[in-house]
Order: sequence, then structure tokens, then C-alpha cells
Amino acid sequence: MAYYHNNTIIYLNGAFVKAAEATTDFYSQSLHYGYAVFEGIRSYQTASGETKIFKATEHYDRLRNSATALNMPYNWDTDELIEATYEVLSRNNLRNAYIRPVVYAPANMSFNPNTESYLLIAAWEMGLFLGEKLLRVMTSSFQRPNPKGFRIEAKASGHYVNSILASQEAKAKGFDEALLTDMNGYVAEGPGANVFYEKNGKLYTPATGNILPGITRATVIEICTELNIPVEERLFTTDELKQADAVFFCGTAAEVIGWQSLDDTVFPAKWENTLGRRIQLAYKNRVTEAVKGELID
Ligand code: PMP
Repeated sequence: MAYYHNNTIIYLNGAFVKAAEATTDFYSQSLHYGYAVFEGIRSYQTASGETKIFKATEHYDRLRNSATALNMPYNWDTDELIEATYEVLSRNNLRNAYIRPVVYAPANMSFNPNTESYLLIAAWEMGLFLGEKLLRVMTSSFQRPNPKGFRIEAKASGHYVNSILASQEAKAKGFDEALLTDMNGYVAEGPGANVFYEKNGKLYTPATGNILPGITRATVIEICTELNIPVEERLFTTDELKQADAVFFCGTAAEVIGWQSLDDTVFPAKWENTLGRRIQLAYKNRVTEAVKGELID
């Protein structure tokens, strides 16, 4: 995937600069120790033709919370960053984009705290992230990090070594994606997405505590309330998950995407008839601000 070309503009520490000419410090604590926080945000071309960033405030508030959780200085205002992000989209002529803000550390080869942080916002065109086909998922041999060893609720760069290992393992074994359990063996999440399952007309999702509480997960719960779909947050095992009628991942990049199987277990419900499919359509309607029911498939 080409993330940028010669004329791509990023927002870097208060200025709009050409990505190809931007510089960074090779002694950054972020590069050496994974000490950085980031966001993954999407913009959509809406039904009325405008470009809108979905839940921009929620994402930039989480960026601030992630930085604070890692003791990183954070002196940016959410509204200013949203404005800068729209400017990045406009300068790069992007509509359906993936937006990647990163807060990173200055040169510092010690473990001592810093007095300042740096910020970059990049964006690139992105369509479907995990494709359209139902996913064949593998239970990972990797568990999510123990929340007593990490700030698991923060979107911290270093945590994503765990995600990369899990996703690479699943793909090397011929699967599409991984599912990770927490340190107690309960289902946690995918490498970059939260999980829901359907059983007898009700949805279930892992309770917060050992997962990244996703903004899409919250949106799915909002949609369930609107559509009168019962949803419960609880702990459950992969054995329980294998008894589900249907399962789906949700996340900013992944959006809402159904599963075909977990390990050797194929889920019995036809995706078209599942609650996940209803939510997938409702989610698409919501991010594109289409009138309910207007956008089918
Ligand atoms: N879990 C993990 C580990 C993730 O990286 C993501 C993507 N940010 C999610 C869940 C979903 O979060 P969101 O819906 O906020 O994108």
C-alpha cells in the first residue's frame, strides 16, 4: 500500500509539511522503546457529499488519555487538532481516509520522563481494511498483555508488538486474523478490533478491564440500544464463543466484519440473517450519515 507520495502533506508539530521532507530524531525514546501513543481514525464521504471525521472528539480525547496514562506531556487542544486534521485531509484531497495521529517522545536514551512531546498527523486513502469476505479466525497462542504490566486501556505503540505477533502467527497458519485471550484465558479482542458474538437473539462482548475499550464497540452498543437489540458485557471463554450463532469484529479500521469460523468451528447462522449484519448496515449508515435504510449493501 502506498501511504504517501512525493506531494503528501502531514501535520508535524504545528506545521503542514511535505512527508517526504519531514525529519525525526533517531534517538527518540519512541523508536527505541515503543514509547508513543497513537490513534486510528476514519473520515467518510457522507451521503450529502461532505467529508466528515467519525467521532473525532472521542478519538482525540482518547489520544490525550493515552498520553496521560503514559506520563507523556500533552499540550494540544482537541478542537485545534480536529481542525488540523481536516486541513490535512483537504491538502491531500482525501475523503475516505484513515487518519493516524502519533504523539512521540524526543531524543532520550534513558527511562526518565520528558518535558515535551511531539505530534504528527498523517492520513491516507483507505477502503475496506479486512476485506468483505467472512473471516477465518485463529485462537492466538499469544495473550493480551497483563494490565498489571501495561496501561492496557491506552493506545500505546509498544502494545502493538503483541498485535503484530498474533496477526502474523494467524496469517502464517493460513487464517485471516487472530483472536487473543486475556491473561486469565477469557476472550479479549483481536489484534486491532473488539469482538461481539450472537447467541439466541442476544449479543455479548467482553467486559472492559483487559481490552482496549473501542470507540466502534461503544458505537455498536449505541446502535443496539437504538435497534432494541439486547447486548451484555461479560467474561467468556473461547469454548463458549464456539457455541455462538455468529461472531463479528468491530474497530475503526475493520468497521463491522463477520466471522466464518474460529479454529475448526464454523458459525452456523447465515451472515445475511444475523444481528451483526444489521449492525454492519446501521454502522455504515451512521458513518456516512445516510438516512436509515437508504444504504443497503
Ligand atoms: N482493540 C485493539 C487492540 C485495537 O487496536 C483497536 C483499534 N483501535 C480496537 C480494539 C478497536 O478500537 P476502535 O473501535 O476505537 O478503533
